[in-house]
Amino acid sequence: MNEENHVSRKHPRAESIRIRERLTRHVKTRVLALAGLIAHGRGEAFDYILGEETTPSASKAITAAAAVLLLAERPVLSVNGNVAALCARELVELSRVTGAKLEVNLFHRLPGREEAIEEVLREAGAEEVLGVEGSALARIDEVFSDRRRVDPRGIYAADVVFVPLEDGDRTEGLIRMGKRVITVDLNPMSRTAQFANVTIVDNVVRAMPLLVREAERLRELCRNELRGIVDAFDNGEVLSEAMGTMELRLRALSEKGVYIEPRSRRA
Ligand code: ATP
Repeated sequence: MNEENHVSRKHPRAESIRIRERLTRHVKTRVLALAGLIAHGRGEAFDYILGEETTPSASKAITAAAAVLLLAERPVLSVNGNVAALCARELVELSRVTGAKLEVNLFHRLPGREEAIEEVLREAGAEEVLGVEGSALARIDEVFSDRRRVDPRGIYAADVVFVPLEDGDRTEGLIRMGKRVITVDLNPMSRTAQFANVTIVDNVVRAMPLLVREAERLRELCRNELRGIVDAFDNGEVLSEAMGTMELRLRALSEKGVYIEPRSRRA
């Protein structure tokens, strides 16, 4: 029996349990470092407070992210273990729609991990994967940890970098290098969420298919129209709206003591 199939569909958190099992399985395949499980847990806690659905402000950020990627000269999608395990297919689709390159970039470059992530991306249809087989030869001095090692054809030369589920040091380093950074992060208080130019406060599992669809839609627009979307976007506003949603939900809970189920789970 497939590990992801034994969860009863009636369980209110069936999807969350399936995702956890997928991640646990990917610890065994080496795609995920153990620390990736902890990062996921932190994300889930924020998702609970956010209401486990894509908010209108996250949709706004998704539109801006698609426009920034389509306007970029040398966009790169940075792939770590968590995003490879959760949404490899959507990463490959986004790369196709926007012309962005895929680059494996890891906090922990443990033996076998790069290869395992490359395999997941190739199985999902990727034709080119940067940052593997010793190709992460350039060094970004602005970044500490293994993540400073990047591909000279990818992140090093990129003008726009998509870094979902990223740590704050690296995001800050990329910004210092003059790159535009787009992220997906359920915690609007994380340093990554705060530093990035476009922050999608949503679960990457929900946001990625929407981002692919939005990039497909915006592809029909001319550059001036895309620039208009980017110019009208305010990341501070999006972060403040995300925190506002959390505040409202917590206030309802503290006043009535009742958890509000996401719309998708209401009868
Ligand atoms: P920072 O260094 O940016 O202050 P951090 O130390 O929490 O934040 P990490 O643990 O490296 O950074 O990154 C993981 C981030 O990804 C966390 O902010 C977490 O909330 C978020 N996250 C985890 N799982 C998901 C997910 N499925 N979708 C979106 N965000 C997620």
